[in-house]
Amino acid sequence: MTKPKQAPEQSERSKGAAPEVTYSWQEEASCRGVDAELFFPATEDDAVPAKAICDTCPVRLACLAFALERNEKFGVWGGLTEKERARLSPAARESIKRQVAAA
Ligand code: SF4
Repeated sequence: MTKPKQAPEQSERSKGAAPEVTYSWQEEASCRGVDAELFFPATEDDAVPAKAICDTCPVRLACLAFALERNEKFGVWGGLTEKERARLSPAARESIKRQVAAA
């Protein structure tokens, strides 16, 4: 069995000051128990399997908001690759944040 995907401050990939966020949503993550490397694909095409798992995830929006809040530079979070997250408009980012806050 592989380790679940870790929160950024728990992983080696982004150590630094952590904003005040909660991680309870990760308990429901569809990627728990899935090899975390799947979520760090080399190419956009390689992200398809991870994105398929995200499509089934009940906490997808919280995950995406988390990655946006952290300005996560690597990997698939909330069903989006880093390139896709980077293309989100400020309005889209704000909408995601509001939806998560209202949930
Ligand atoms: S949206 Fe994807 S990366 Fe985020 S918790 Fe769910 S399955 Fe994991």
